[in-house]
Amino acid sequence: MSVELVDYGIASTIGDTIYINRKLQDCPELYQKILQHEQKHLDGHSHKLDFNEPFDLGLLAWVIKHPSSWIHFSPIWIVGGKIIWSRIMLIIHLTALAVIFACIGMVKWIS
Ligand SMILES: [Zn+2]
Repeated sequence: MSVELVDYGIASTIGDTIYINRKLQDCPELYQKILQHEQKHLDGHSHKLDFNEPFDLGLLAWVIKHPSSWIHFSPIWIVGGKIIWSRIMLIIHLTALAVIFACIGMVKWIS
């Protein structure tokens, strides 16, 4: 297992490398917590893990303060020179798009 510090996103585990935003080191407690979470992905746990973790207000506050982490919510991005994609983010973005188109459709239908 190796840990690589990156400038964007929050944290991702690819193969046996954990990529983690270097700015998380400013909050050692949060950094450790996220590192421990990513280590669970190393053990072959699926992404179900992400839904079972309790919602973390500390992480939310950190994300809001660090725009460099927002790329993590994109369905597709690049980590360590590799293109990665997130099924859950793809579903969320497609759902949001569907809602937007439904609203546009409704507005056109009313007017
Ligand atoms: Zn996770």
